[in-house]
Amino acid sequence: MNFNNDKRKIVLVGAGSVGMSFAFALLNSRVCNELVIIDIDKKRAEGEAMDLNHGLAFSQGSMNISAGDYPDCYDADIVVICAGVPQRPGEDRISLLRRNKAVFEEIIDKVVESGFNGIFLVASNPVDIMTYITRERSGFPKERVIGTGTTLDTARLRYLLGTYLGVDPRNIHAYVMGEHGDSEFVPWSQAYMSTKSILSICAECDNCYKACELCEIEADVRGAAQKIIEAKKATYYGIAVALLRIVKAIFGDEKSVFTVSAYLDGEYGQKGIYAGVPCIVSRNGIERIVELDLTEEELSKLDKSCKFLSSVIEDMSTAAISK
Ligand code: NAD
Repeated sequence: MNFNNDKRKIVLVGAGSVGMSFAFALLNSRVCNELVIIDIDKKRAEGEAMDLNHGLAFSQGSMNISAGDYPDCYDADIVVICAGVPQRPGEDRISLLRRNKAVFEEIIDKVVESGFNGIFLVASNPVDIMTYITRERSGFPKERVIGTGTTLDTARLRYLLGTYLGVDPRNIHAYVMGEHGDSEFVPWSQAYMSTKSILSICAECDNCYKACELCEIEADVRGAAQKIIEAKKATYYGIAVALLRIVKAIFGDEKSVFTVSAYLDGEYGQKGIYAGVPCIVSRNGIERIVELDLTEEELSKLDKSCKFLSSVIEDMSTAAISK
């Protein structure tokens, strides 16, 4: 890999709402010192790079920002993919697959041809499937192909639970697992405020906190993207901050835990798919998957979600995704 402390280079593919919100978040951080923006609309990428450069004089750190092309990936540490088509109101993420798959195959081929040897970080939807396609197409080791998975959903859950319990979301330890989509779920047996189980908080004072309200919070998390899309056509700030946080963990070799989309190779009894599970993220990408002590019911929810993702992969013709 190309990591060294002097140069931290990110290539961003897709200069749309998600990509540019992420780029803007990068500008206001000291996470990387080189950013190359690629988009099929070259003029747009150039305009975005110009606009960001004009903020440099007042930003946190120095950064080299430019519009570029795929050969620029050769010495990048991370290629972040936000290219594709946004969700239409009422459209589920899986229906985006057909439209996004062709776009992805073209992008991955060009990135790999550049000699890129870093980490792929995928945000495009349906993210678990697009990440699977990225690994299949690139032939990269599983730990270096990461999807944002349920990282954003977990952030939404922590925000809502924090508000409900009157606690800073950073002191909420709870995850959304499985598909980034309708079959995702919250393993409540593993949800904590500080080190206290949230289920036991509800059991102790049913008048204050009700278990049934946790179900409403879970439903709100699941429906959040659709609600935002109905209101403002797309979601981008939340995912941009999630991307920034993951990239920061990679460059900082943090070994922090995120529910990124990871290749399951027997963990949780699942194999051959990408899904959102708690993972330790470091400079090497996914260091390892954390296997939580899920209840039988939670394991069965994860199994259902993984089976759904497997069925989508099966539906894609093997010939169409092979080189
Ligand atoms: P957008 O339409 O604003 O931007 C997409 C960009 O991709 C455009 O600039 C377009 O020109 C570019 N593009 C299209 N084909 C390309 C190609 N072949 N090569 C290079 N660039 C190409 O969309 P958006 O709102 O930024 O969303 C981007 C993706 O992120 C979507 O798939 C969306 O569903 C997804 N998303 C994921 C999450 C998550 O939690 N993972 C959250 C929000 C959005």
